[in-house]
Amino acid sequence: MSQPNMHILLTGAAGFIGSHVAEALLAAGHRVTGIDNFDPFYSRSAKENNLAAAKQHPGFIFHELDITDDVRISKVLTDHYDAIIHLAAKAGVRPSIEQPVAYQQTNVTGTQHLLEFARARGINRFVFASSSSVYGINRQVPWQESDSMLHPISPYASTKISGELMGHVYSHLYGIRFLALRFFTVFGPRQRPDLAIHAFAKKMIRQQPIQMFGDGSTRRDYTYVADIVQGVLHALLYEQSDFEIFNLGNCRTISLQEMIETLEDVFKVKAIIEHKPEQPGDVPQTFADIEKASRLLGYQPITPFREGLVHFKDWLLQQNYP
Ligand code: NAD
Repeated sequence: MSQPNMHILLTGAAGFIGSHVAEALLAAGHRVTGIDNFDPFYSRSAKENNLAAAKQHPGFIFHELDITDDVRISKVLTDHYDAIIHLAAKAGVRPSIEQPVAYQQTNVTGTQHLLEFARARGINRFVFASSSSVYGINRQVPWQESDSMLHPISPYASTKISGELMGHVYSHLYGIRFLALRFFTVFGPRQRPDLAIHAFAKKMIRQQPIQMFGDGSTRRDYTYVADIVQGVLHALLYEQSDFEIFNLGNCRTISLQEMIETLEDVFKVKAIIEHKPEQPGDVPQTFADIEKASRLLGYQPITPFREGLVHFKDWLLQQNYP
């Protein structure tokens, strides 16, 4: 096991998952340098709020930096870092179809820059946020990391596969321990506003219609953010091999229909549903086999879906909605 009190370079620190990871690392006794460029995908003020708690901590440093700007990264980040946790990305499946080049630049070129930074600075641990979307329309479920056929159906998914492959190269050539974590639809306080739970809940409490794409039978393996954070922290300490891919999901799927009904129950409001056709890039189901993460990382998701939604509701209702 690694020593505590590592100095971690955390990218995407102002984001939904990144801000939770920052707080958990600080609570575990690590020092954290967070970077983020406040990408306009959603509001800067939401991201400033995400960062507020970490910024109170003496072990936290923040730099507004763009991961595509390798020159500035090298100039500003002069400390020694024991590990990089790389969560910064243009996230979201549907927008990646509109802006594939921008996704490529941030998610592929940006990741390449960080791997080069790791190589140049002798940082030999790298944890990368990959995504369940890499499996795409693979119909054989639950999905296992050993599935050799990936069937991505969005530019976003293809950028995440690229990140995993680049990590393999750096692990092989330079001995950097590279762990790719495939997150499965993460939810909880601070969830990105584009994601369905957040977008639906906001509309439901305002009594506005929500758009249901397809017939409600698509299924997602929702994973509560604290469970994901636990997996990220375990990955940081993993030492048995130099390259691995892990699913961080729940091995439990919930249909879109059930998700809306649980939101209705938790928020005590009735949804007004507008039916729309399925969206390009959306996969019919995501379903994680988590045996490998459980065996090798000790990953154990513990938060039931409804309980996670209650925590999300408590947070959302403090955010001046409606
Ligand atoms: P998020 O958008 O809240 O966080 C990503 C952060 O990266 C943002 O704060 C953004 O400003 C920052 N960023 C974007 N481009 C940047 C750049 N060029 N330079 C520096 N910072 C930049 O998203 P999230 O949901 O917290 O996702 C975190 C990571 O997890 C992403 O890599 C995402 O692809 C991955 N992921 C998320 C989910 C999910 O369900 N939320 C599922 C699978 C994978």
